[in-house]
Amino acid sequence: MNPRILVVEDEDKISDLLRRGLSYEGYRVDVARDGQTGLNLARDNPPDLVILDWMLPGMDGLEVCRRLRSGGPVPIIILTARDSVADRVIGLDAGADDYMIKPFSFDELLARLRALLRRASPQSPEVLKFADLTLDTGTRRAFRGERAIDLTAKEYELLELFMRNPRQVLTRDVIFDRVWSYDFGGESNIIEVYIRYLRQKLEGENEARLLHTVRGVGYVLREE
Ligand code: CA
Repeated sequence: MNPRILVVEDEDKISDLLRRGLSYEGYRVDVARDGQTGLNLARDNPPDLVILDWMLPGMDGLEVCRRLRSGGPVPIIILTARDSVADRVIGLDAGADDYMIKPFSFDELLARLRALLRRASPQSPEVLKFADLTLDTGTRRAFRGERAIDLTAKEYELLELFMRNPRQVLTRDVIFDRVWSYDFGGESNIIEVYIRYLRQKLEGENEARLLHTVRGVGYVLREE
């Protein structure tokens, strides 16, 4: 079955372009013109990836993103005309995995979409364990002890990379190459931003630090 892409976009020109372009590439495409319709479609036909406009009538893209995210780890690309780093971080905080600034190149969107889909499709499921962390690559669920950890698709990939390479220092270059295979537009602090997200989720109040910074080199998953 070809991947199903949900497009939530109120501008007809863009949604038509995406519907035609993505269908031509072999994807199954659903289009919604507003957030609520998008959420309904996502519930009825769970998509493999969502392309979500930020500025929507009624419920905005960020709220749609949060609600989609609470339903599971579907990759989400946000389309936005907003360009400041602060706005991008808000989008990532809301659970988006990537964003494209309008006007965007369709080829670049395709490249990012393929990268996200490739990473989202599990090979043979495994249960990875380190200390009291458990990662199920089949269900893409993470636990610390009994506590379920709610991860975005990118956070999941980052954690999986560390859990497949425990006690090894991973350089920023390696992390960038493995988790973001394309040019992120010079967003050089993206790894720090994601490490911070991951720590907030992994390391609760009375839980020991597992993700350590190796100054000037990178990061390592190890016990204290
Ligand atoms: Ca719009």
